[in-house]
Amino acid sequence: MSKIKAEYIWMDGHTPTQKLRSKTTVINGPITNLEQLSDWGFDGSSTMQAEGHASDCLLKPVYFCPDPIRGGDNVLVLCEVFNPDGSVHRSNTRAALRELMENHESQEPWFGIEQEYTFFTGRSPLGWPEGGYPAPQGPFYCGVGADEVFGREIVEEHMSACIEAGINISGINAEVMPGQWEFQVGPVGALAAGDEVWVARWLLYRIAEDFGVSATLHPKPVKGDWNGAGAHTNFSTKSMRSDGGIDVIVDACEKLSKKHDEHIAVYGAHNEERLTGLHETCSIKEFRYGVSDRGASIRIPMATQNNGKGYLEDRRPAANMDPYKVCAKLIETVCE
Ligand code: ADP
Ligand code: MN
Ligand code: MN
Ligand code: MN
Repeated sequence: MSKIKAEYIWMDGHTPTQKLRSKTTVINGPITNLEQLSDWGFDGSSTMQAEGHASDCLLKPVYFCPDPIRGGDNVLVLCEVFNPDGSVHRSNTRAALRELMENHESQEPWFGIEQEYTFFTGRSPLGWPEGGYPAPQGPFYCGVGADEVFGREIVEEHMSACIEAGINISGINAEVMPGQWEFQVGPVGALAAGDEVWVARWLLYRIAEDFGVSATLHPKPVKGDWNGAGAHTNFSTKSMRSDGGIDVIVDACEKLSKKHDEHIAVYGAHNEERLTGLHETCSIKEFRYGVSDRGASIRIPMATQNNGKGYLEDRRPAANMDPYKVCAKLIETVCE
């Protein structure tokens, strides 16, 4: 037994977009299962989660992984937030997904989330001339070379950290707007997708911090003729992945067409700035689905069409979306 550092991570009460908070407790390790990690508390009046006169909130560990930054037996611990009386805190969006999944485990929903983000130093995206603009978009997507991509050392370190933490990261790429990048998590189950995306976001902020760089998930970090940042959510159920699955996928698209506004409501703040109908998006006011169509709300990948089974890509979620809410909404609409 030896002393280890456990970084407890949770989502705060910031509106309209929740932010991440974390603090460290030194405990006896190593940690081999969740039950070894105690509940903890924090001052909710400093995180927009409580009033000053009754400010204690409860942290319950729900997912832990090796801490790739501190190394050794140190761990990262993702928590759900509860009120002092044990009831679910209003900021706890994971609880609803947890309950929903109890009824849908047999459909085996899988999610693959493409998390786009933008690096900033001061008020400019990383690599942009101070107070000015770089060359127009075109050469930057999946680019190579010091004049095309900015921040690769951070991206590489983040990817390695995710792998070391056991997060199911499946790749990275430089994006269309210079200073913008993407990583993908999945395919994994709904709760794992949410947990792993939130911890991967925490790792991104934490690693970029050491470079003096911030990462933002704002869906339109630069106004004008620059791509926004999304979180395309790839989704399948067992029946979609089985023979004849394409019919189930088309059926799901039809169901989704009737719930467009309900979905947009939980797909991230300021998404109207991004879903304009330009820059590989469909207007927020429309719903369309199509094979290989990157201008649609939902894209059915070419391989899915060709194989007659696979998954669909919901292109509407913004980069700042809460994966717990997005996964829950997709399951509600498609699986109920
Ligand atoms: P794009 O061509 O849209 O940029 P990416 O390669 O960035 O696609 O992301 C595709 C995502 O789809 C990955 O996160 C991957 O995990 C996910 N994915 C692959 N198969 C499935 C599936 N059957 N169900 C859900 N997600 C899937
Ligand atoms: Mn992608
Ligand atoms: Mn992308
Ligand atoms: Mn995509």
